[in-house]
Amino acid sequence: MRIAVASGKGGTGKTTIATSLALALATDATRPSPLFLDCDVEAPNAHLFLRPTFERRQEVGILIPRVDEAKCTHCGKCAEVCQYHAIAVLGKKTLVFAQLCHGCGSCTLVCPEHAISEISDVMGVVESGTARAGIAFARGVMNVGEPMAVPVIRQLKKWITPEPNQIVILDAPPGTSCPVVESVRGADFLLLVTEPTPFGLHDLRLAAQIARELKIPAGVVVNRDGIGNAGVDAFCAAEHLPILMRVPFDRAIAEGIARGQTLVDLEPEYRVRFEELADAIAARVASE
Ligand code: SF4
Ligand code: SF4
Repeated sequence: MRIAVASGKGGTGKTTIATSLALALATDATRPSPLFLDCDVEAPNAHLFLRPTFERRQEVGILIPRVDEAKCTHCGKCAEVCQYHAIAVLGKKTLVFAQLCHGCGSCTLVCPEHAISEISDVMGVVESGTARAGIAFARGVMNVGEPMAVPVIRQLKKWITPEPNQIVILDAPPGTSCPVVESVRGADFLLLVTEPTPFGLHDLRLAAQIARELKIPAGVVVNRDGIGNAGVDAFCAAEHLPILMRVPFDRAIAEGIARGQTLVDLEPEYRVRFEELADAIAARVASE
């Protein structure tokens, strides 16, 4: 079962929920230890809570075109075929904009002069190892200044094969853009973390739309419960989105998280609550 944990915006406690769920499952001897994938490749931070030791590492890159100006006749066919406007012919010069290139290879294929070769452009790395309580842990990390997260996330998800019956927890990036869609694609369940404020509600609406579009069953965790208003509850009721857990607004929790502790570390009762959350998710997936 693959559980993606997402939120419409940053700072809602998404990683707190994802890492706490992983730790609760890993410390239950009756369950297989989970696999945790930190897909927030622009700013991965799950390692601060699960403290992995990395054992494997692989660079992630795409092939981008390099034009041999001695062979190029500036016919413009490469620019015509590029959907991303990553190659352009300006007079007697053919320019490649590497940061727009998606590495699809179309320009190389259509060039009648065989003037294009492909060179590897490294965008980041994927790393894997073992974290607290034996959790299998992997993450992607983008190089500073790289604009495209999707290839790194795609490679991370392909790189690690879960054991049979292993629960996979995918910690998605915040927001609702392409990296989030790539992270949650293929998940069996989408756990949406929000807070009961107008901002939280606005972003929950967008995140719920992703679940609908991708036809992934979803449920909600309300973090910092007790602040704000009842808008999130009303939205969930109207959209038939089950609220599966509430975590109260509590200064002691905030301080513990700032020290790198999960909810399971802070209060033993959360171990049981997260196990119940996993069971509720499994029941909903089974009933789909
Ligand atoms: S298709 Fe080939 S020959 Fe034509 S402009 Fe592009 S690189 Fe030059
Ligand atoms: S590889 Fe694809 S995306 Fe990149 S420049 Fe060529 S056609 Fe455009």
